[in-house]
Formats: sequence, structure tokens, C-alpha cells
Amino acid sequence: MKRYAVIGHPVAHSLSPRIHAAFAREAGIELDYRAIDATDFDASLADFLAAGGVGANVTLPYKQRAAKACATLGERARRAGAVNTLIRRDDSWHGDNTDGAGLVRDLTGRNRLDLRGRRTLLLGAGGGSRGVAPALLDAGIGDLYIVNRHAERADALADALGEPGRVHPRYLDDIASHGEFDLIVNATSAGHEGVFPSLPMSLIGPRTTAVDLSYGEASIGFLSWARGGGCREAIDGLGMLVEQAAESFELWHGVRPYTDAIYGQLRERDAALVSAD
Ligand code: NDP
Repeated sequence: MKRYAVIGHPVAHSLSPRIHAAFAREAGIELDYRAIDATDFDASLADFLAAGGVGANVTLPYKQRAAKACATLGERARRAGAVNTLIRRDDSWHGDNTDGAGLVRDLTGRNRLDLRGRRTLLLGAGGGSRGVAPALLDAGIGDLYIVNRHAERADALADALGEPGRVHPRYLDDIASHGEFDLIVNATSAGHEGVFPSLPMSLIGPRTTAVDLSYGEASIGFLSWARGGGCREAIDGLGMLVEQAAESFELWHGVRPYTDAIYGQLRERDAALVSAD
């Protein structure tokens, strides 16, 4: 049986094994997909390979590290400087990035949003931000402002995107002076620590769509802040999670899985967990 995994830290609560098992059942493919909690990414990847691993998803905080482990990168991973999908090819790792395609598919497909021309604020400059920023630009958003706790990482991401007239790194402390945004994307992992960076309500208006890449409890702080400010829509990262997984599945198995059934199951589970709290 072919072996696949999601590698990250922490990763115990990852939904990826369940999603890939559901896709595999539907496609009639036998596979073994597990979560690997890695404190040393390179060592865990080597162990996984030695155990017969042929493909892996990579999650926080290793997406930029994974790009360095690859002999070849697809266009999306090269632009992102970050890898969320590893494919074993010709005795080496090939890296791709399906996060951006997953987010855009969820927003424009499932949520029927038109992203064109939207003045956008991206919070965070880690592996997730690097994956989604090129895809948002390709989807036709307007100007993209990037802020990050450590400002130099926002600068580095803006440089890598290479569109100086359209992409603007800014200091977190100065963001209040930039008015309302049409789209605010939270790609920080702060929610996993139960915190949310303090942001001015002036960023939100009645036309604002707020999107958190996180889902479940980790998304509650940001999405509550956005709803409290009167945003038009507040969307968590569950749909993106399923769509980026479908893109990875297609890269590995050559079959595009249907996503609605597993998305519905996970949404019900999420609602049950929140109401049980
Ligand atoms: P990384 O570890 O690569 O980056 C973390 C980012 O969060 C950095 O920008 C970091 O800032 C920022 N950050 C962390 N803690 C804080 C804090 N307390 N206050 C402010 N900023 C903080 O993680 P990823 O980019 O891979 O993931 C980010 C989030 O996106 C995670 O919640 C992840 O689960 C989610 N995600 C969801 C996906 C989905 O499919 N739904 C796909 C990809 C990501 P600094 O650089 O200053 O340390």
C-alpha cells in the first residue's frame, strides 16, 4: 500500500488523514495516510522516505523548509518559496503548493465571491501567506497590503511577489492609517495560541469579507473581531483545507475528488464541537 503523510508540528489534530481517506474510498484507491508530528523536519522526512513514503503534505511551521528539501519545484511552489505538497519523482522530492488554488477555489466556488479589484490586507508572512498571496494576485485582487509581527518577513514576501506597484508591506502599528479593506485574510497562526493580534476596527466596513485560513477554535478570535466590526462575510479555512487537499490528491493519484461530501461532514463536526464548548 502506498504511504502518504502530513508532516508538521503540532499536527495531532490535523483533519488531513480523514480527508484523504474519504477521497481514497470514493476513488477506490488504497493508501495509508498518517499524521507525522515532526520536531526535526529533515529527519522525519528521511524516516518517512525510508518507510516507503511517496507523497506528503507539509503544514506549519515547515512549508519554507520543505521547499529547500526539494530537487525540483513546480511554478506555484517556486513563486511561493513554500511547499505544501511533496511528490516522490525520479528518486528525489518534487515540491508543489496547492494552498493558493485551494483558497481561491473555496472563495470563488463554494462562497461565490468575486475577488477582482478587492483592496486586500494579508495578515502574516509565513508559509500559508506565501502560498495564498500569488493565487490571490492571479485571481485579480487589487492592491495587496501585507503586515506581519516581524516586519522583515512581510518585506521579504513582498519582494518575492515582485509587483512593487501593487504589493505593499506595511508595519502592523501603522495599518490603522490605511482605511477599510474589501478583503482581509488572516494567515497568522496566532489563533492556535488562543490569541489574536490587536487590530483597529477601522479596517472593517460593510463591504469587507474576512477570511481566516484557520478553522475551528483557532479561527474564533479573528472571525469574532471581524463580525464585531460589521463585516459582510466571515469565512473560516475549512473549505480551503478540503480544496487544497483535493488538489494534492489529484497531483498524487491523477483523479480529482469530489469535495462537497467530506466538507459537509467536517462542517457538521465543527458545529457540534463549537456548540459542545
Ligand atoms: P507559519 O508558522 O509558517 O507562520 C505563522 C505566521 O503567523 C507568521 O506570519 C507569524 O508571524 C504569525 N504569528 C504566529 N503567532 C503570532 C502571534 N501571536 N501574533 C501575531 N502573529 C503571529 O504557519 P503557516 O503560515 O503555515 O500557517 C498559518 C495559519 O494558516 C495556521 O493557523 C494554519 O493552520 C493556517 N493554514 C490553513 C490552511 C488551510 O488549508 N485551511 C493552509 C495553510 C495554513 P512571525 O513571522 O512574526 O513569527
